[in-house]
Amino acid sequence: MNTQKLEHFRSMLNEQLTQRTEKVREDQANALEYIAADDGVKDSVDMSLSDHNQELAFRLGERDSQMVADIDQALLRIDEGTYGTCAHCGKPIDERRLEAMPTARYDAQCQTAIEANDGTDEEISTL
Ligand SMILES: [Zn+2]
Repeated sequence: MNTQKLEHFRSMLNEQLTQRTEKVREDQANALEYIAADDGVKDSVDMSLSDHNQELAFRLGERDSQMVADIDQALLRIDEGTYGTCAHCGKPIDERRLEAMPTARYDAQCQTAIEANDGTDEEISTL
């Protein structure tokens, strides 16, 4: 992949990173606010619901944090010069795929195989 294209994906990733970081911060602020308000209204009336909400807030944050980590890794791969290459088979990832999902680590074929294999790329020797 040429430098111009790499820079194109780098700026896409940086933009997504900014958006995600802001969203994570927002979600966490909202979750804290919600939990704080919740505690003020009722004491021990419905602890299970309160726990559930905290769990949900945590999971939302975790999911977004994972996306931020994916973007970080993609940016690292640009620096390392491995960006746009399938981490499993080493073939170039289709650029249209990268346009749609700039954090893609695998080409479509490997991604499908990995998803069929419970999300792990272990023990997929032949494709
Ligand atoms: Zn592959």
